[in-house]
Amino acid sequence: MSPDATPFSPETQAIHSGRSIDPTTGALTPPIHLSTTFERDGDGSYPKGYIYGRSGNPNRDALEAALTTLEKGSETVTFASGSAATFSLLQALSPADHVIAPQSVYFGVQQMLSHVFAPWGLSHTLVDTTDLAAVAEALRPNTRLVLIETPSNPQLAVTDIQAVADLAHQANAYLACDNTIASPVLQTPLTLGADFVIHATTKYLAGHGDVIGGAVVTRETNSLFAQLRLVQTIGGVVPSPFDCWLTLRGLQTLPLRVRAQAQAAQTIATWLSQHPAIEQVLYPGLPEHPGHAVAQKQMQGYGGLLSFLVKGDQETAMAVAAKTNLIARATSFGSPHSAIEHRASIEKGTTTAPNLLRLSVGLEHVDDLIADLDRALMLKN
Ligand SMILES: *Cc1c(COP(=O)(O)O)cnc(C)c1O
Repeated sequence: MSPDATPFSPETQAIHSGRSIDPTTGALTPPIHLSTTFERDGDGSYPKGYIYGRSGNPNRDALEAALTTLEKGSETVTFASGSAATFSLLQALSPADHVIAPQSVYFGVQQMLSHVFAPWGLSHTLVDTTDLAAVAEALRPNTRLVLIETPSNPQLAVTDIQAVADLAHQANAYLACDNTIASPVLQTPLTLGADFVIHATTKYLAGHGDVIGGAVVTRETNSLFAQLRLVQTIGGVVPSPFDCWLTLRGLQTLPLRVRAQAQAAQTIATWLSQHPAIEQVLYPGLPEHPGHAVAQKQMQGYGGLLSFLVKGDQETAMAVAAKTNLIARATSFGSPHSAIEHRASIEKGTTTAPNLLRLSVGLEHVDDLIADLDRALMLKN
């Protein structure tokens, strides 16, 4: 039976999808195909299906196949970064189209919409996508794409995927869901009606903090996806064979990593929510989180990322982050190494609270992480 078949659990699919025993050597670990070019037959055909490394490569095909299986889609295009994935999807639209994106959308996406695509003619509206009435009101006759990010970064706001998919489809628009924070282990948006899933594979999918990458998975092969494939191969923002190999390697442990990180994040979020130095914890796994009920409906766990507001101002929050030892002061998330970040100081012009710290829970023992946070929070008082 193919490892892509549905009876297999994500753990099994993560290990077997996109991988097969190398027919020339019997190697279980796939080789890295660095060749930029592939030989033609005398009749001009390409007997193995590969022509040139930008248009296709065996390591890239393997990664795309694995991501398609894990996200329960029909096809995947991979890119050199998560930003390139969203950028290319926007580029596949027409300049007269309109896009709806979340008010709290990933900072880089807000930048590309305002500074690259608006001058090009693509208009956009930023709305609170957790508010269905606001999404309905923002839809226009030329809205071609609704972009959501759930849970969102760094607010951990939860958008109802199925409800927004219904609204988008009623208006003849596509829904693209950034699934970077949840990963397909905890949420499969294509099964809830989304047309595309976007990933910064940089985060949980590659999972080891050593490769930048991105992907778009489609539910079915439609005209926008065909254009996106063209943007990938002609635009050439492709991941290298080694990047694809590393990401496929990381995928093997994705379900185990994400479940462990989500469990530790739940423990830490609960502990922080009772800590006297904390004003508020933003984590969809907490019953008091405004998106908890929707998250419970559409997720199988709440993920390894959380944010918290420290009692005090920007300086207080910075001082807490300055005191952690195990937890690194660094951007990004999804690595084994836990990381804490003061978001407002790197997101210029967003509404992120000055006393907010985002915590990416890694794979260290949860007791050690709590001790590190406790020390940092106590020193503040
Ligand atoms: C990190 C991230 C991106 C950008 O990915 P890069 O690989 O850094 O370009 C986009 N969206 C979300 C939600 C992210 O977390």
